[in-house]
Amino acid sequence: MNIHKIIIPTPYPIGDVNAFLVKGDQLSLFDVGPKTEVALDALNKGINEAGYKLEDIEQVVLTHHHPDHAGWVDAFPKADILGHEYNDHFLRREPEFMSYRTNFYRNQLSLQAVPEKYLEKIVESKEALKLYGSTPLTKFIGDGDVVPGHPGLRAIYTPGHAQSHLIFLDESTNEVIGGDLLLDKVAANPLVEPPTDLSNRRPKALIQQQESLKLLRELNVSKVYAGHGEEIVEVNDLIDKRLEKDQLRLKQLIKHVVNTPKTVIELTMDLYPAHYRAELGLTLSKTLGYLDCLVRDGLVSEEIVNDVIVYTRN
Ligand SMILES: [Zn+2]
Repeated sequence: MNIHKIIIPTPYPIGDVNAFLVKGDQLSLFDVGPKTEVALDALNKGINEAGYKLEDIEQVVLTHHHPDHAGWVDAFPKADILGHEYNDHFLRREPEFMSYRTNFYRNQLSLQAVPEKYLEKIVESKEALKLYGSTPLTKFIGDGDVVPGHPGLRAIYTPGHAQSHLIFLDESTNEVIGGDLLLDKVAANPLVEPPTDLSNRRPKALIQQQESLKLLRELNVSKVYAGHGEEIVEVNDLIDKRLEKDQLRLKQLIKHVVNTPKTVIELTMDLYPAHYRAELGLTLSKTLGYLDCLVRDGLVSEEIVNDVIVYTRN
């Protein structure tokens, strides 16, 4: 793959994000950084270093809709914007979708016995939404689609960290543009997001993430161009490490699930006593992810009692 990496600063705890400029029959940019001025400077500089200008970019391709990846879709007036169709909800931010989304989280929090006052902390505020771009997609791509202008570069749907998540496999070199599916330093968070069908069914993000990692494992890829951090070459070793870490967390969590039913918020406080206050949304989605795995493995049962989900040991 003729690929040029551009490192872009973000205001998020994760640090820098990577964009990748790929020259094929078309000049395509995979991910575009958050919508901040410093990020635009970095994009400009990186594209210039490769010998091009912003206007030369013919396609922007998104790995997923999160603002650190999809912010500057607005900077490329001549480019088509491609990605999984779920991105479009976050680029268009139509009132109908935004209120559906708020209600989805409200409903989830009440099932998890989280007080309503934390809603705003968990659903991104209006301020955070400013770092999103607002140019809608011009073309949807989904699982199995070849990226236009790049024969042999195929999209693979890999939900978990985001419901819009795609990776791109170069079938000739067996390299992958991986978004946040696999990162060198940290495991990407299994964030709770509304489902792609816009129903009220919560996607089981950690289970999805594990399935997506197993899928990547089967591809035996030689290199991952990751959305953050360095490129990964010992790909399957790192996948095994991530999956083992999840197993370890499951063992820790199961100790807290007892014969008396407990709610998600109670179990989050048990599992993350030092962190749940400062990072409620994150710790809730992790706990929920592990609980989904324990239910899947038949170790724990869930039922709804008085409109709240409770978990008990089997
Ligand atoms: Zn990211």
